[in-house]
Amino acid sequence: MKITEIITAKKPSLSFEVFPPKTSESFESVLSAAKEIALLSPSYMSVTYGAGGGTSQYTSDVCEALGDCGVTPLAHLSCICASKDRVREELQRLKDKGIENILALRGDIPVGYDKTSVHYHYASELAKEISDFGGFCIGGACYPEGHPESANSNADIESLKIKVENGVEFLTTQMFFDNNILYNFMYRLYRAGVNVPVVAGVMPVTNAKQVIRICKISGTALPQRFLRIVDRYGDDPDAMKQAGVAYAVEQIIDLFANGINAVHIYSMNKPDVAKAIKDNISEILK
Ligand code: FAD
Repeated sequence: MKITEIITAKKPSLSFEVFPPKTSESFESVLSAAKEIALLSPSYMSVTYGAGGGTSQYTSDVCEALGDCGVTPLAHLSCICASKDRVREELQRLKDKGIENILALRGDIPVGYDKTSVHYHYASELAKEISDFGGFCIGGACYPEGHPESANSNADIESLKIKVENGVEFLTTQMFFDNNILYNFMYRLYRAGVNVPVVAGVMPVTNAKQVIRICKISGTALPQRFLRIVDRYGDDPDAMKQAGVAYAVEQIIDLFANGINAVHIYSMNKPDVAKAIKDNISEILK
C-alpha cells in the first residue's frame, strides 16, 4: 500500500521507525525488534538507510520481512555517496522485494567529501531519479526548525518546493519537542504552496544525553519544560524512559487534536517504548 493512501485516510496514522543492523551478527536481533514492533499493527514502518550505503542490503531485507508480517514498509534511501548505477540497482532490488514506498534522502555530507565526484547533490535529484524509474510512492525529509546547512527557513522551504516538483508526495519531519514549531512550519508551507501531507516525527526520549547531543548537531530546540525533565530524571534510566514516553504521548495527543493526522515515532528499535506509546493512545487511534 502507498504511504500517501495511509496518511490521507480519515483514521489517524501512527507509524514507527527502526534502523538496520551495522553488521550481519546483529541482523537477527534487529529483525526480532522490528517484528515485535510490527505486532503492534502500526499504520506503516520505516527502515533507515546507513550513512554511506554500506548496509543498504539490510534496509531492504528488514523492509521485506516487515511486508511479510503484513506491515507496509517505507525504505529510506540516501544518495550523497551513491553513483547513478548504484541507485538504480537499489531501486530494482526494492521493486523486486515488493517495496512500494521510499523516503528519498540526501544523507549527511561525509568527512573528506569530494564535491566534484558526486552524482547527487540534493535529495530532490534522487526524488527525480526514483520518479523516472517509476512505481514508487516517494517521501522526503523536512525540518520545522530549518536544516542546519540552510541560510534561512525560506531557503529551506524553496528546496522543499523543488523536492515536491521532482516527485515527493509526502514529507516526514525531523523530531521537534515544541508542537508550536510544527504548527508555525505548517503555516509557512501552506503559504508557500507546498501542500503535500506532512507526517510529524516524534522522538520519545529514553536516553537524555544522547538526544541532547543529537539536538545540538541538528539545531533542534529543547524547551525549558523538557530540559527540567531531563535534569530531574536524566540519570535514572527507568524514570527517564517513563517521563520520555509521557512527554511524547502528550505531544502526540496535541498533534492529533490540532488536525495533524499522521505521527511517526522514532522508536529506535525499542519495542517496549513503541508499545507504551501505542497503549497510551489506543482509544485516540480508533
Ligand atoms: P536535502 O533535501 O537535499 O537538503 C539538504 C540541504 O540542502 C538543506 O539545507 C536544503 O535546504 C538544501 N537544498 C536542498 N535542495 C537544494 C537546492 N536545489 N539548492 C540549494 N540548496 C538546496 N540520514 C541517513 O543517512 N539515513 C536515513 O535513513 C535518514 N533518515 C532521515 C529521516 C528523516 C525524517 C529526516 C528528517 C532525516 C533523515 N536523515 C537520514 C538525515 C538526512 O540525511 C540529513 O538531515 C541530511 O543532512 C539532509 O538530507 P535531506 O534529504 O533533507 O537533504
